[in-house]
Amino acid sequence: MKCPWCKTEMIDGFINSSRKVVFSQKPNDDFFFLAGRESINLTQHNWTRPSAKAYHCENCKKVIVDYSIEIE
Ligand SMILES: [Zn+2]
Repeated sequence: MKCPWCKTEMIDGFINSSRKVVFSQKPNDDFFFLAGRESINLTQHNWTRPSAKAYHCENCKKVIVDYSIEIE
């Protein structure tokens, strides 16, 4: 995937966490396993090893998460 900001090739990888990761329009809109009503769950396997497909650009210091991709 090309970085949408600088157009260089991004590094293929994953977001890995000890807890699920959500996108929210408000900070701290998540409490343990209860996501806020507006939150979007980004990670899979949230009870064992939460992770999500992601791409990293070293130049721009940005990560893009693709939570549509199924992780084995
Ligand atoms: Zn970039």
